[in-house]
Amino acid sequence: MHLISNGITCNCILTNCLIFMKIKPTLRAADVLNGSTPMDFSKKKIIVADLDDTLTESKQPLTSDLIRILDILLKYRMFAVITGGSLTRMQEQVMSVMAGSRHLSNLIILPACATKYYKFENGKWTKVYEEDLTEEEKKRIYVAFESMFSELNYKHPQKIYGDLFEDKGSQITFSALGQKSPLEAKKGWDSDNKRRLEMKNILAKYIPEFEINLGGNTSIDVTKKGINKAYGIRKLEEKLGIRVDEMVFIGDKLMKGGNDYPVRTTGVDSIQVSDPEEGKLILKLIVERLRG
Ligand SMILES: [Mg+2]
Repeated sequence: MHLISNGITCNCILTNCLIFMKIKPTLRAADVLNGSTPMDFSKKKIIVADLDDTLTESKQPLTSDLIRILDILLKYRMFAVITGGSLTRMQEQVMSVMAGSRHLSNLIILPACATKYYKFENGKWTKVYEEDLTEEEKKRIYVAFESMFSELNYKHPQKIYGDLFEDKGSQITFSALGQKSPLEAKKGWDSDNKRRLEMKNILAKYIPEFEINLGGNTSIDVTKKGINKAYGIRKLEEKLGIRVDEMVFIGDKLMKGGNDYPVRTTGVDSIQVSDPEEGKLILKLIVERLRG
């Protein structure tokens, strides 16, 4: 059995108390697919997945192949998508293209790192909750980015596609090449995450009261403390009454510093995929197992 990393202990400050948290190892998709790391999906009541680079290429809609697979999966199990992306993006990438499914009541949408929660009820998408940042908090975040840029002597690229910052209500997202940058431009800008990790570490000095995570290929997401994908797992537990050990999470950024990494603090079983093709194969495998 191959694990991305062994269980390690990290310090987490939560409600002013120092607690020790066990980080659960994540499984490699390739090992789950070839059977060297077996997982009993029949015990899972809900499949939870990241969106960009896990289910789809960055900011692209679900492919027709994946729509078919998810439609079958929703017949057997609940499925939730937790993303750093906005509700608008979620509508474009998931909700609109899944509109033909007969099992939408089993689909849960958690945009902006689960600070928003939507479910399909009585024939329409219904808000369960939304938790937004105040204007004062947003201002502090923008000022911290400017301080970080000047500390790093960082110059924005000459070619920017759309806005550098996106206000998602409950989350501010910085995209180094702009919100609308094409996939090709993004690949290679920070493929080893080093540039953004350096930015994140400096930002954390200025706004320690906020949660800072790397998202997508070129983005940094800032939310209230404690708001990350682990928060989404806890909200699903609370709203659905499904235990964490009855969930499985699939993501492409489960490594330390990645925006899927926090889910590992919840103890949820997680599967690290390298791209959306692998994400699709894992979901296909789950459907095959559930169909028996
Ligand atoms: Mg991702």
